[in-house]
Amino acid sequence: MTIARKIEKTIETSSWIRKMFEAGARLKAEHGADNVFDFSLGNPNLEPPEAFQNALLQAASDRTPGLHGYMPNAGYPHVRAAVAESVSAYQGRAVTADDIIMTCGAAGGLNIVCKAVLNPGEEVLVPAPYFVEYGAYADNHGGVLKTVPTGAGFSLDLAALAAGITEKTRMVWINSPNNPTGAVYTREELAGLGELLREKSKELDRTIYLVSDEPYTRIVFDGTEVPPVFQCYAESIVVTSHSKDLSLAGERIGYVTVNPDAQYRNQLVGAMTLANRILGFVNAPAMIQRVLPELQGASVDVGAYKRKRDLFVEGLKSAGYEFDSPRGTFYLFVKSPVKDDVEFVQMLQEELILAVPGSGFGGPGYFRLAFCVEDRAITASMPGFARAMTRARG
Ligand code: PLP
Repeated sequence: MTIARKIEKTIETSSWIRKMFEAGARLKAEHGADNVFDFSLGNPNLEPPEAFQNALLQAASDRTPGLHGYMPNAGYPHVRAAVAESVSAYQGRAVTADDIIMTCGAAGGLNIVCKAVLNPGEEVLVPAPYFVEYGAYADNHGGVLKTVPTGAGFSLDLAALAAGITEKTRMVWINSPNNPTGAVYTREELAGLGELLREKSKELDRTIYLVSDEPYTRIVFDGTEVPPVFQCYAESIVVTSHSKDLSLAGERIGYVTVNPDAQYRNQLVGAMTLANRILGFVNAPAMIQRVLPELQGASVDVGAYKRKRDLFVEGLKSAGYEFDSPRGTFYLFVKSPVKDDVEFVQMLQEELILAVPGSGFGGPGYFRLAFCVEDRAITASMPGFARAMTRARG
């Protein structure tokens, strides 16, 4: 044995991303990077806003002693206070610094939530398709990810969620705007979910938490509203990051907010603060925390993502592809014109187009395209998409 069986299995199941990466590297070496159209990765291609560069320069030149040392594990109090002000305005509910824990991205946030609330074998229920790493996060802390189907347009299917909740369910995770579908849940859907969770918690006599993973909240189009979850359900926790809205994915900065109305709010915040430390994060990176008060309300140029979405939507529709135009995120989730999405992704590869099979997200029969790329890649790839469709129709 060289590595643990469990990680060996995880490597096997996460092989889609690896396979795409390997295929991409091989094709780029053979054909030149400019001739390969890589829509496989959700790595933002827009630069952070100007305000970020300015705030960073200012933070870097600050010589106040002790600035680079350890801090409270939940993060700098003044940063959490600034973040709390923004969260309060968005949630329509007064949130304080004491409800916020700064984290190493949304991934770090989801892991401290799991560490804080999961007992061995307890279930995390998630509507599919879903962000592929959720299963590993739950498993990291002894939990089990369980999926339920979504309804038309990848909306919340409350009946499916109701049927999926058992005496082992500890959390329901939602992600809106959604990776990979681009769907955004409505106020009515969230109100219905809150009602369902109140009923089920009572019936089963246990607290079922609603965890809303929201790194794409600011990347929405056509005036789409992302309704605040705190107003729908008291036992809720919001996890987010600036990986996408400020294009700071490599800087590892995000935060968790516990609903101040949650029954065990103090215990939850305490447990997550300790989890931040003992999972090895200790605290979110100091320098990037310090720039955040200057960036409340800032975001990348969402208009650029809208332009890319429109280019893609128009091109793919005229080539005959079927999909719902995403209302948020920078992903398109497209119906595969042949039954097997893996087979179609291979056909796209023959056109030097890299996509990820929906099967990798618990959504077989579809494929995901990330449009956080140069406009040129989208327009130049269209003849390849059209040829692949013609071949699929055989
Ligand atoms: N949740 C979703 C839905 C995501 O798409 C991602 C990253 O792509 C994450 C969480 C992890 O985000 P971060 O890089 O902030 O940890």
